[in-house]
Formats: sequence, C-alpha cells, structure tokens
Amino acid sequence: MQSSAQVQSVSQSDTLASFWMPFTANRQFKAQPRLLATAKGMHYTAVDGRSILDATAGLWCVNAGHCRESIATAIAQQAQVLDYAPTFQMGHPAPFELADRLVQMLPGDLNRVFFANSGSEAVDTALKIALAYHQARGEAARTRLIGRERGYHGVGFGGISVGGISGNRKQFGSLLPGVDHLPHTHDLAQNAFTRGVPTWGAHLADDLERLVKLHDPSTIAAVIVEPVAGSTGVLIPPQGYLQRLRSICDRYGILLIFDEVITGFGRLGTAFAADYFGVIPDLMTVAKGLTNGAVPMGAVFARQGVHDAFMQGPEPSIELCHGYTYSGHPLACAAAMATLDIYATEGLFEQAQSISQYWEDAVHTLQGLPGIIDIRNIGLVAAIELAPWPDQPGKRAYDIFVQCFEAGLLIRVTGDIIALSPPLIIQRGQIDRMIDVLRQVLQSRGDAVD
Ligand code: PMP
Repeated sequence: MQSSAQVQSVSQSDTLASFWMPFTANRQFKAQPRLLATAKGMHYTAVDGRSILDATAGLWCVNAGHCRESIATAIAQQAQVLDYAPTFQMGHPAPFELADRLVQMLPGDLNRVFFANSGSEAVDTALKIALAYHQARGEAARTRLIGRERGYHGVGFGGISVGGISGNRKQFGSLLPGVDHLPHTHDLAQNAFTRGVPTWGAHLADDLERLVKLHDPSTIAAVIVEPVAGSTGVLIPPQGYLQRLRSICDRYGILLIFDEVITGFGRLGTAFAADYFGVIPDLMTVAKGLTNGAVPMGAVFARQGVHDAFMQGPEPSIELCHGYTYSGHPLACAAAMATLDIYATEGLFEQAQSISQYWEDAVHTLQGLPGIIDIRNIGLVAAIELAPWPDQPGKRAYDIFVQCFEAGLLIRVTGDIIALSPPLIIQRGQIDRMIDVLRQVLQSRGDAVD
C-alpha cells in the first residue's frame, strides 16, 4: 500500500499535458481528472485518497481482484531470471507450459494456442489465421469476413473492419474490403427487462444464410461475434442464436470465431462463454482475464482441424507468417500462470456462478427508477440502459458515471448504458453497496425526462 503522502505526490507531480489518452475526451478529462493511485481486492484508491469500489474489474479484466500477491511475485521472480527471449525459431518453456494449461481448460478440440499481447492483436491474429487456413486448404477465394453490428473487436484494422461501431470506424477510411455485418440481437421491444438469456431473436442468425446466398459460400472465410457483446452494452444472445450460427457455418465450411476477450475466464460463471452456451467455435480470442489485467497478453485458441491445415506443407516450413516480438512474453506467461492458479484454487468461476442469482436479483431491484428502460444480466455482468436525453446521446449516463465516481463507485458507461462487471471475488455486501450507490445517484437526479 502507498502512504497518503506518496499518493499526494503522484497527484501534484502530474501535469497531465503529454499523455494522449485513449478513448477519452482528453480536453474534458484534463479539466476534471479522475486518477487512480493504488488498488487492492475490490477497491481502487484515488489520488485524493478516496476508496472507490470497482464495479468494472478495471476494464473487464481484473477478475481475481486487484494486486494479487502471487501474481506480483510471479512477475517479479520471472523478471529476474528471464526477461525476454526471441520469438523467431526460438522459444522458452513458459508459453509451452501455459498453452498446455489453457488447453486443459478449453472445451472440445480447441487445443492450439497462439499468443498475442492484447485483445486487438488476438482478433487480428484470428482473422489472419482464418484467411490463411482457407488458403492452406486450397480455397483461397474464401476471403470475405462477416462481423456483426454493435460488435467490438478491438482497434486493429481487422478488428474495426469486422466491428460494428460506426464511431470507431468513421475516422479511418475504407477499412478492409469484403466485410459484411449481421444484425445485432438487441431489441427492447421484445426483450426488455429479461433476466438471463432472452428467448426472442434466434432467427436473427439466419441473416447469415442471406449473406451466403448473396456472396456464395466459396467466398466466405469466417464469421466473428462476441458471444455476449460487452463494450456496446452487454447484449446477450437470444436462446439458440449461437447454435444456429454454428450450424450455418458448418453447413457452408465457414469458420466461426468467438471473441471472448470479455467473456473468457469466468465472467459468465463458466470458464468461457463457449461452455455456457454449449457451442464450440473454430477459433476463440481471449485477453484481459488471462493475466488478471496485470501484464498485457492476448491469445487465440484454435481447433485441431484449423491447426492441421498449416502442418501439411513441405519441410522445413514457416506455417503461419505472423507473430509478435512479445508473443508468449515471459512476464505475461508468469502472470497468466499465477492467475490460472488463483482461478483454480479459489474456484472463482464457480463462485461467480453461485453469486449470480443474488447479482441478478440485486440489479433488477433498480427497475422503476427514473430513466431506466432496460436491465439485463448474465453471469456476473449486467447492464442498465437509460433513455437518452434528446439531442445529447450518452450525456445522461456520463453524468451518472461522474456522480458515481464521486460517490466512491467505479462503473463503465457506453452510450446511455451502464455496464457492471465486478471482479469475481465480489461478496454480497459489496453488491448491496454497489446497488445502493447507483440507486441513490439515480434517485437524486430528478431528471426523469423520458
Ligand atoms: N474484443 C473484445 C470483445 C473486447 O471487449 C476488447 C476490449 N474491450 C477487445 C477485443 C480489444 O482488446 P484490447 O483493448 O486488449 O486490444
């Protein structure tokens, strides 16, 4: 723990001028900064010394709670014995060991692991694997990629091309060619205030049939979806929807990619959303909870058949011309292995599952408060959707975010949706506190302009 004197000096020495902050209204932030100094368990401490309850697990990543000692120790010890090893035609034992451990956790024959350094890199890696896979099998015409409206797949050119957020696309030109989007599955007229998985909407997967007819299956490489779309406001797939996507992909030889950067590592009370929904993708991307957010790391998991396609060429070969200087970085591997130990020894996925009913009941008690037009939940994640103010989309939720922070609660807002995804170690009393602060903030505002 830092002393308050140390915390204070962070605040005083920080001029805020040079750092160009990501995904942030820089001018607004620098006029009214929110800076975190330390963290432990379920809480941050702000630079002014206030304790902030973390309802977002950092940014959906600190699943085991903050500043876990065993993770810190593992990183420090690794840094002293092997800081870095080259990744071309060379290696070191840690990523092999980590990959083996991950494969033990994975469903079906997802049994090959390619390491990256972030969710965005994992996504672009998965898209490239999909394209190269078809080429390796002699189907080089399969180049078309299909994403989904309101999908978020990071910020690489591949990720924003298949992503479905216009704000993230419009500044960056024409993006990848040959990309289509399925409709998103969020429909408040049908599914408002659903607890858990909504029943309406599985047929929306059939839009993939339309694209298959339009383009011919021989041109389509892969479909990528987040099983539960996180960043655009926790959009939960309708019952049977993912199964339907899987069977259409199977029918036409299209690879199915699940982007589990948010849902991976226990968020739904199972290791992966693939387990929760009983649908196995051909490729899966993860990051965030893989290292508990302590060191950047992403990964792509591939099914046996995908990997096999690359193993057929003549020897000696480089099977997939892709990789990063820091793929399987020693410090990231150390953090990941310590994180997996915590998940297993503390049974955190099961704990998330066992508290999820309490969580669901608690978040739905907010129904009826001013401005709320939907509350939805699954596993240990929930969203509260607000009616936007006319001509000021996002402003209402942003104000609530600022008020909550001042009241000692960190939430995430996206548009006019509040997303809640606490660390999996959360206890009932902390859920109660979270809901109390939200209730007080929402009640105090008197702005029921719906
Ligand atoms: N995919 C999904 C589903 C995500 O939620 C995110 C990050 N929120 C990413 C990809 C990108 O991850 P990163 O920010 O680590 O690049």
